[in-house]
Amino acid sequence: MPSFALHGIGVSSGIAIGRAQLVSHATLEVAHYSVPPAQVATEIARFDRAVHEVQKELEGLHGAMTAGDAPAEFGAFLDVHWMILNDATLSEAPKKIIAEQRCNAEWALTQQMNVLVDQFDQIEDAYLRERKADVVQVVERILKRLLGKPGAIVPAGAEQHTILVAHDLSPADVIQFKQHRYAAFLTDLGGATSHTAIVARSLAVPAVVATHNGRQLIRENELLIVDGTNHVVIVNPDKSVLTEYRLKQTELELDRQKLKRLKTKRATTIDGAHVELQANIELPQDLETVRANGATGIGLFRSEFLFLNREGLPTEDEQFEAYREVAVGMKGLPVTVRTFDLGADKQKEGLGGLARVAPNPALGLRAIRFCLAEPRLFLTQLRAILRASRYGKVRILIPMLASVSEIDQTLAMIEQAKETLREQGTPFDSGIEVGGMIEIPAAVLAIASFLRKLDFVSIGTNDLIQYTLAVDRSDDAVSHLYDPLHPAVLKLIAMAISAANKLGKSIAVCGEMAGEAGFTRLLLGMGLRNFSMHPAHLLTIKQRVLTTNVAEIEAIVDRMRRIDDPARLSALLEKLNA
Ligand code: PEP
Ligand code: MG
Repeated sequence: MPSFALHGIGVSSGIAIGRAQLVSHATLEVAHYSVPPAQVATEIARFDRAVHEVQKELEGLHGAMTAGDAPAEFGAFLDVHWMILNDATLSEAPKKIIAEQRCNAEWALTQQMNVLVDQFDQIEDAYLRERKADVVQVVERILKRLLGKPGAIVPAGAEQHTILVAHDLSPADVIQFKQHRYAAFLTDLGGATSHTAIVARSLAVPAVVATHNGRQLIRENELLIVDGTNHVVIVNPDKSVLTEYRLKQTELELDRQKLKRLKTKRATTIDGAHVELQANIELPQDLETVRANGATGIGLFRSEFLFLNREGLPTEDEQFEAYREVAVGMKGLPVTVRTFDLGADKQKEGLGGLARVAPNPALGLRAIRFCLAEPRLFLTQLRAILRASRYGKVRILIPMLASVSEIDQTLAMIEQAKETLREQGTPFDSGIEVGGMIEIPAAVLAIASFLRKLDFVSIGTNDLIQYTLAVDRSDDAVSHLYDPLHPAVLKLIAMAISAANKLGKSIAVCGEMAGEAGFTRLLLGMGLRNFSMHPAHLLTIKQRVLTTNVAEIEAIVDRMRRIDDPARLSALLEKLNA
């Protein structure tokens, strides 16, 4: 098999070596051929056998899942597949097509799938409409059996050596893999700070996005090397390349082991500046890695992930349990719950009249705008957070603020939620701190007025870069324009940090820049003392902090704030990191 390389954007560093598993949302290509009348019964029997084999496959999977610790949604997911498989529209109708059209089973099955998919497209109920994808997946399972290529499902224990190859994955898809141990991911689409990339990074496995046609070129089970650090995927590597990568992998593992020694060390610079290194999480189950990497708090709990991959919305009690679990688990260290930031690339179907495809979702009804437009949902979440606040040091963080009036409205709603709890006699921390995310240029320019009303702020560089440069963070076609080192971006970040420091208000960076070692010294030199990132990056950043003398780098950073020439900026950054 020929060896070749694919270039993309490495969104999670490290090296993985494993076999490809193609994740397909599209239909498999099938051939069409006629079956002689005498063969029709055999063709129908072939179809029946394939359906039967898939039934066995699903049963086997169900058994394995109940025995293991797979998340509950996988069980539900298999149940849906079971129902679809056993429905006559899928298990019987194709047989009629084989008999009537005298065609092969694969063709009959895809014909019937197209009919069903069309019917699903007409369904008004968004949840049911989404089940179309399940129909396609069940059809793909049967097709794989018919084509004699089963084994798309990863046997338990083999995941560690399995690399998922997909055309595209939504953040909701990727979060489902949290309890699995896939070796790596690669996708055709995606930008470096898309939420899909962020979640992939939080799985702490190498990932490369924007490979363009990787999904088409890679075959099931082919040997792959994913090098997330160097943005490359090597398909069917030859022996010498494989040996070289195995060696690199061992070296990286040794480095990781060495870093572990820093876990309990305080993050203090050579000249004595203390730095908070906190963690970003998506779900309470992330706490284990947070603790393993010695975070001094949760700087960003992306609470919207509690809303994804589920039917309906989480109730107040369900949300309360999740926030309480994190508050208790962090034993008094700060837990910053960002109120839900749905919209843009994190869509949730079934949110009443507001569930619509916006013409420009990143600029549409997203985050705090959506919350304020849906006060009932928002108040439910606020009460849940407040109730959890007595179990630790919980803080509320408001996403995507653009104007002071949004702060006023949110503070009024927090007051209303508190009032309800007081009336119920439910205890909460009445001094709970409320902060805002700085992710729109307008928020930086108006930061003084924001800081008067808020207890703290946190810079979301992922969105700040997107909105400053007008570059969609999830679109790989413009990813070359997404530049954290753009002079305008640096000026905005520096401005926000100095304004907060001047007023004595706490400021953090919780975007991906906080977890990139190349930017640590730059941010420290700008006066940042609070970083929040994926837990997997904490020890690398701590090492950087420990080897930095802020007094020595301030002059370079000052120069960087004032110049506009990208080449000089890169050169100075290199000097800073030397
Ligand atoms: C950001 O925008 O930098 C951020 C931290 O929020 P999110 O990535 O969830 O939009
Ligand atoms: Mg953001």
